[in-house]
Amino acid sequence: MKILVVASEVTPFAKTGGLADVAAALPKELRRMGHDVRVIMPFYGCVAVAGQTVRKARKSAEIELGGERYKGFLRQGTLGEVPVYLVEQRELFGRDHLYGTPEGDDPDNPRRFAFFCRSVLQFLKRMDFRPDVIHCHDWQSALIPIILRHEVGDDPFFARTATVFTIHNLAYQGLYPPSALTEMGVSPSLFTMELLEYFGRVNLMKGAILSADIVTTVSRTYCREIRTPEHGCGLEGVLERRSGDLHGILNGLDTDEWNPATDRRIFHTYSSRALAGKGGDKLALQRELGLSVSAAVPLIGMVGRIVEQKGIELVAALLPRFAAEELQLVILGTGDARYMELLERFRRRGMENVSINLGFKDPLAPKIYAGSDMFLMPSRFEPCGLSQLIALRYGAVPIVRRTGGLADTVIDVTDDPREGNGFSFADFAPDACWDAVRRALASYRDPGVWRKIVRRAMQKDVSWRNAAGQYEALYRSGIERKRGGKGG
Ligand code: ADP
Repeated sequence: MKILVVASEVTPFAKTGGLADVAAALPKELRRMGHDVRVIMPFYGCVAVAGQTVRKARKSAEIELGGERYKGFLRQGTLGEVPVYLVEQRELFGRDHLYGTPEGDDPDNPRRFAFFCRSVLQFLKRMDFRPDVIHCHDWQSALIPIILRHEVGDDPFFARTATVFTIHNLAYQGLYPPSALTEMGVSPSLFTMELLEYFGRVNLMKGAILSADIVTTVSRTYCREIRTPEHGCGLEGVLERRSGDLHGILNGLDTDEWNPATDRRIFHTYSSRALAGKGGDKLALQRELGLSVSAAVPLIGMVGRIVEQKGIELVAALLPRFAAEELQLVILGTGDARYMELLERFRRRGMENVSINLGFKDPLAPKIYAGSDMFLMPSRFEPCGLSQLIALRYGAVPIVRRTGGLADTVIDVTDDPREGNGFSFADFAPDACWDAVRRALASYRDPGVWRKIVRRAMQKDVSWRNAAGQYEALYRSGIERKRGGKGG
């Protein structure tokens, strides 16, 4: 199959979260399966800074949006054997961030990502690459299924192209005032309750859910949850309407990149059979972060966006208890200003056994997964979650809230002592979270029991193989449907 993956972030070119990992690892796995897969993303200023080699291709696109003409160019890099195209448009993407700053999103995001989506379709024609499937991710590429269903009419170039739209996080929908329609070059005739209109605003995700041939999300539990008012973020009804075409496929991990046996970013490599290196990683991490160096004290890691979704209030409420307990806590993250300020205040207090690291620090993250005994992820909701998959693979036993992808990947040791690979709790409340932490600490005290839990965690299959096979099957059904003329 010819497959185009469209995403607003792709590791290692630009990343703010799990989407970037997915948009890199899935194409690599599909390529391994023999498909002609290519990836396209914007060329942000920070891509160049990160030192990725991307050469200029001699292709340009011109698009008029909101009365202004924008010219974009194509650059090309690679991801193993997968070509990665990057859309360069200095005015819109030449910034050192992707979507905004801690103070808020860039106000011209509708224009930026409309340019991206529209230029992708132009570039496909210029390259004469006719994909069988265009796989779009999240609101930033939502306009593509909308355009293909409602704008291009019977353009023969796209007549045989099916669209798949994946929801990585329903909380970010691309919601804008109606004036954004002009900025995105979208006809007001599409601003209806049946498509883009949502309580008087433009909702890009809604439009894509209703336009794509197939809709997916990133775990089975989240796929169920988003059809309820509690997790549907107002789109539960729209999702219910597409429930026949809505599928939950659990993300995998790029197990070449995330492999403790070969990872050069960590101090010592190790495997589930030879765990000694992991002990060394813990000591080295303690040293690097200025914690007291001790093999015995349990070390809990946490890496993630500092936002409400990740349960940061629970962590903040529990910080005094963590500080008073015989353990060490290492936090790495960046995100909303108000939570960052809160953590900064705790950091300044200088708690001896808590290390708070604010910022996006790619080199530090693997060291934390490798050096931690446990990994805390008390999310309010979690579509899939990659951090707990990385933690499992690096033998940092996850302590998670039982929601979305966390519920699908972590088996509680107390519930199932033979198969358990972590600890989980149901209520979104500090005491429930603390109870799970205490249960983990109790198991840790018995080295024989603990080693078994760590091994089971590390041996869980978190690779992409299974998921890529499921996407392949969905692509085929999308193509069949498209060619059979039965739209969604
Ligand atoms: P989300 O996509 O909701 O942010 P995921 O768990 O799916 O959460 O993916 C998060 C990814 O981003 C993981 O690979 C994690 O290690 C990485 N990450 C998150 N915050 C940071 C940070 N501050 N520094 C380095 N890596 C981070």
